[in-house]
Amino acid sequence: MRAGMSKMKAWVLHDIGDLRLETVDEPELQEKEVLVKVKAAGICGSDIPRIYQNGAYSHPLIPGHEFSGVVVKTGDYADASWQGQRVGVFPLIPCKTCLPCRRKQYEMCQNYSYLGSRRDGGFAEYAAVPEENLIRLPDQVTFEEAAMLEPMAVAVHAMRRISAKESDRIAICGLGTIGLLLFMFLREAGMREIYVFGNKEYQKQTLIRLGLDEEYYCDVRVNDADRWIMERTKGTGVDVFFECVGKNATLIQALDQTTSAGRVMLVGNPFGDMSLEKSVYWKILRKQLTVMGTWNSSFTHENTDDWHYVLSRLEEKGVLPAELITHRYPLEQLEQGFGIMRDKTEDYVKIMGQY
Ligand SMILES: [Zn+2]
Ligand SMILES: [Zn+2]
Repeated sequence: MRAGMSKMKAWVLHDIGDLRLETVDEPELQEKEVLVKVKAAGICGSDIPRIYQNGAYSHPLIPGHEFSGVVVKTGDYADASWQGQRVGVFPLIPCKTCLPCRRKQYEMCQNYSYLGSRRDGGFAEYAAVPEENLIRLPDQVTFEEAAMLEPMAVAVHAMRRISAKESDRIAICGLGTIGLLLFMFLREAGMREIYVFGNKEYQKQTLIRLGLDEEYYCDVRVNDADRWIMERTKGTGVDVFFECVGKNATLIQALDQTTSAGRVMLVGNPFGDMSLEKSVYWKILRKQLTVMGTWNSSFTHENTDDWHYVLSRLEEKGVLPAELITHRYPLEQLEQGFGIMRDKTEDYVKIMGQY
């Protein structure tokens, strides 16, 4: 340890399931990096298996990839004007040399680093962040909102890739954070005929708060999903289907319930192997479906990227993602949030650390 180096509190993952609140050295800045004093950090669904099941890419590691804060120090060759700025953080650090990177499709980088999974992230008082990964926050955008930029950009990436239009009849199956955010952004973009499939009462209540008319909500525990959607779409099914679950049954549902020449967007990370019976596969061909995947979000520093799109919506209060925050904890108590998500002891959507 260098003499006079400052200390900070951080959640350090030493091994699978071995997460400890510790006092550690503040991160050392590499060239073109800045030190961010973290003000808000959301817990992502992916943090739970990372901490308790699979471990991170390497240990010890400070998890947390959805965070925002204030730049308190700039490293060598970093732009000094970042000092004091309120910032959001794009967590993926691209290699800048692979083919997707050369095409500015950094989300598909083949040799990336990642804050909070491959190098230290935001469940700490401070984090070192490459200046290229920063986005300046307008005054109207809160730190909490900015800590949700990443999941919002993921939802927006799916929405924009499938080119949803106002006239489209849309279905969303799966109401985790991304499914709920998708609903929020689709509505904000003018879509009105959005059918939603869920199986939890608090998700339904959340959607109603976000503007969903109750008639558009299908509780799959009590309804036959096929009959339900066909009754509402005159037997045709929808134009665009967002599959946000990642299970075989809901993939088949999406292919069944999407109309001829419709589009299916695959959003949910798979729980296990996927397979299709021939009769289902035929539907992709005969209905000439477009089946598309989506991954991560675009961040290129151009104002056409997903992150700038999200910021512009936040700036105009077109979306209110804080509506999805169900729990708030100070840094020291963040483990309670991890526990709720691991053990599902309480209803939750987004659990936020506020430092
Ligand atoms: Zn995440
Ligand atoms: Zn790359």
